[in-house]
Amino acid sequence: MRQSRLPSEIELAGRAVPLSCRRSRRARRLTLRVDPKHEVISLTAPQGLATREVLAFLDSHRDWLEERVQALPPRTPFAVGSLLPILDNPHRIALADGARRGVWLTPGRLWVSGRPEHHSRRIEDFLRVEARRSLSATAREKAAGLPRKANRLRGVSVRDTRSRWGSCTATGQLNFSWRLLLAPEAAFDYVVAHEVAHLAYPDHSPAFWALCEDLSDDMESGRDWLRQRGSQLFRYGG
Ligand SMILES: [Zn+2]
Repeated sequence: MRQSRLPSEIELAGRAVPLSCRRSRRARRLTLRVDPKHEVISLTAPQGLATREVLAFLDSHRDWLEERVQALPPRTPFAVGSLLPILDNPHRIALADGARRGVWLTPGRLWVSGRPEHHSRRIEDFLRVEARRSLSATAREKAAGLPRKANRLRGVSVRDTRSRWGSCTATGQLNFSWRLLLAPEAAFDYVVAHEVAHLAYPDHSPAFWALCEDLSDDMESGRDWLRQRGSQLFRYGG
């Protein structure tokens, strides 16, 4: 049977890599790249080009794609034996085989019980809860130092956003990426300071940045780390 539609993912180097295809009126030829940050294959195709030609192009670049996917740095799964930096402290994931059930932390260890096929999801759920707790506590602490005219901090929630580390709504709700729990303290602290400063200034004016710096422990290192190495945070789990 002939395939007439583009696949949503391609099996390469033993894993299914998502394929994101964009049709462009300005594109004159097909372009292909492997985005290392998001681990997707991005394909741009001229508007009118027949799908079977796009498929043939993909097919002829299989080896090239395979090589690039293989070259991506290794992932750290949420599985027994992996090492996770939680709030800057390395924690080794260990199997709890005693009476206690669930997921919990002791110094240097993240314990998980139950069947291995459930570990990844349960550990991620646990990290999300921990992240929300820590982000919320830090945000409340920092919000206490805001000028009077600032918005009130209404609540903190966590998500798994890829486009930004945090956001602040006009009603005073702060949203963060739960993955900040796995970032160095300066980065974690800076993102919270940034969003809390938005409770006072919705813009990125000089006044905003002055306040953000005041609220941060080490704004410069935090920003630099996220800019240069933030994508590492997406290498955990899955
Ligand atoms: Zn901002």
